[in-house]
Amino acid sequence: MRAVLRHAQEEVPYYRDVLAGRNVDGVDLAELPVIDKAKMRLCMDNFLSRGWRDIPHIAKKTGGSTGDPFQYPLDKRAWTHIYAANLYFWERTGYRYGDRLVMVGSPPSLQSASEGVKSRLRARLEGRVVSAAGCRIDPETSLERALTAGRAGGVLWYGYASHVAAMADAVLESRVRVPSPKAIITTAELLFPTWRERIEQAFEAPLRDQYGCNDGGIMSQECSHGRLHLAENVSIVEILDHAGRRCPPGEEGDVVVTNLHARTLPFLRYRIGDRAVLGAGTCPCGTEGTFLERVVGRQGDSLQLPNGKHISMHALGKCLFGARHVRRYQFVQPDPRRVQVRLEAEPGFDEDERSMIIGEVRRLVGSIVDVDLTTDEPMERTRGGKHRVVVRTFDGEPGQPMVW
Ligand SMILES: [Zn+2]
Repeated sequence: MRAVLRHAQEEVPYYRDVLAGRNVDGVDLAELPVIDKAKMRLCMDNFLSRGWRDIPHIAKKTGGSTGDPFQYPLDKRAWTHIYAANLYFWERTGYRYGDRLVMVGSPPSLQSASEGVKSRLRARLEGRVVSAAGCRIDPETSLERALTAGRAGGVLWYGYASHVAAMADAVLESRVRVPSPKAIITTAELLFPTWRERIEQAFEAPLRDQYGCNDGGIMSQECSHGRLHLAENVSIVEILDHAGRRCPPGEEGDVVVTNLHARTLPFLRYRIGDRAVLGAGTCPCGTEGTFLERVVGRQGDSLQLPNGKHISMHALGKCLFGARHVRRYQFVQPDPRRVQVRLEAEPGFDEDERSMIIGEVRRLVGSIVDVDLTTDEPMERTRGGKHRVVVRTFDGEPGQPMVW
């Protein structure tokens, strides 16, 4: 951390000012201002290192899942550390480097940044198999994807939670048997508890969810106790409350990340836009180090009520805790006074379940908002194929209290 701070102080205009006249050895991380995408974008030149083009880097881009794409250079060194942490986590499931790896689908964000010789070589070395490429998750494609994954004899399956869940649905419905991998790792989406159940039921393999993001640089994976262990070689993670103070374990706050290897564009106390809860003590699985109790979701994924309040997707998810026949759900809000709950329901979904869900949502949003529920409309997904829990089609007003 000292090394990145020193670099920032010497090479980055913003930190030259912030750390002017300071000896970085005496600087506590908490003294640095929290930054975010919006602040950086206002004046990227202020945040880029002098001569950044000479530092080996790759051009990265965050997906459009937040409707807020962001392009930035990431040091190859930083990328390598994230990738290494990823391999380390994969190996914790019993997979060994070089074992056959099935990439479930090939959504853009799981593809490597370059199609150069090195990345092709790596794919070969890693014994990668892509099972039914693309982002479609209809039953036919999903069954084909599951069968291909089974035929390939992959030791590890890796992909979007929604893709693997759709494979599980297709396999359970058609009653075929697919050879189990040693483990399944899902990534990049909120994993619904119902998805987890069905994935484990269909493929009889342990499922571990990953949480990470490249900007800022955070990487974590669930252990057998469901806690997300952080890769502490990659970054320092803080959870901050609305006043910028560190939250104690158990209390929810903003995820703020300090990348230990990014020099091209240093990410120091960078608020990535997710909310999470830090875990307390040592995890019963025995792994040492910091872990997250849970990740709650993205700030952008919220409904906005006419009174200015926001409702997070975590709170919305609770409305469906009692629903036993819901495969996927989505909340669509075309204007502040109207919310449509879109469901993909299983046979057995009945009037009672429907009115229970509507009742729960009404209780949350209040009588001023119209709530309706449909099981016929297709779910909207991001261009990269990720499932969206909240689709709000008007701009929210920032700075309003959030109902979690
Ligand atoms: Zn653990």
